[in-house]
Amino acid sequence: FLKGKSAIVTGSTSGIGLAIARALAAEGAAVMLNGFGEADAIERARGEIAEASGAAALHDGADMTKPDEIARMVARAADEIGGPDIVVNNAGIQYVSPVADFPLEKWDAILAINLTSAFHVMKAAVPAMRAKGWGRIISTASAHSLVASPNKSAYVAAKHGLVGLTKAVALETATDGITVNCISPGYVWTPLVEAQIPDTMKARGLTREQVMNDVLLAAQPTKQFVTPDQVAAFALFLCRDEAAAITGANLSADGGWTAQ
Ligand code: NAD
Repeated sequence: FLKGKSAIVTGSTSGIGLAIARALAAEGAAVMLNGFGEADAIERARGEIAEASGAAALHDGADMTKPDEIARMVARAADEIGGPDIVVNNAGIQYVSPVADFPLEKWDAILAINLTSAFHVMKAAVPAMRAKGWGRIISTASAHSLVASPNKSAYVAAKHGLVGLTKAVALETATDGITVNCISPGYVWTPLVEAQIPDTMKARGLTREQVMNDVLLAAQPTKQFVTPDQVAAFALFLCRDEAAAITGANLSADGGWTAQ
């Protein structure tokens, strides 16, 4: 149902973003991938996505901490695949530390990648969507956009901010055929979660198993990690015309975490 549409998915060389890019491509969208990683692996993913969509698939290595690179990426998408009709603000990083020790450069990087990059993408993408009278802006927030955990001050602040940005832009675009929403997953098993286990072990003096069961899945009543494909299916639904009334929403897929 997305044939003829184009999509940019930031942070789509791994995890949730890659699953969303694959899901959009499977419905025929031309996709611009973004993110870091090993060149061969990125090229393999790009090739598979192009084959699945039957449309163009590109990769742009724009660094989400750099506003000029973000603007250039959106302009490149417009030139090479049109639109963008769909943008998914998904790039994100995590850093775990008590606030008193939290390195300023980590705070700045998390705010830049997890929050400010979405502002730059929206600013660049909204005019083309408005001109077409159709657009979908989806941001991967987190259960941490609704509730906090200790030692994640920057991440929690950025994700709460992303929900505010989403609401404001949803109101600005409400009569333009554009919807703007957040999806807020609980813990999804991806490299981002894997990478924070050692830091959490250190910060809280726990074993790997204790972090998995007592910290991560302790918050999630289903006792199951959310899967990247479940998040991707949710994002795909928001791209449907049937989802036109859903805007300015922060939609949870968190195994019941924030029901507590
Ligand atoms: P991941 O580490 O697997 O993927 C992150 C992606 O972002 C990668 O493609 C990486 O290259 C890219 N990226 C990182 N820094 C970048 C930069 N400066 N510029 C451009 N790209 C950059 O992580 P994931 O778990 O798939 O997370 C994706 C999103 O989902 C993030 O916003 C994260 O906060 C959010 N999220 C994840 C979970 C979870 O449990 N994994 C839960 C809720 C929300």
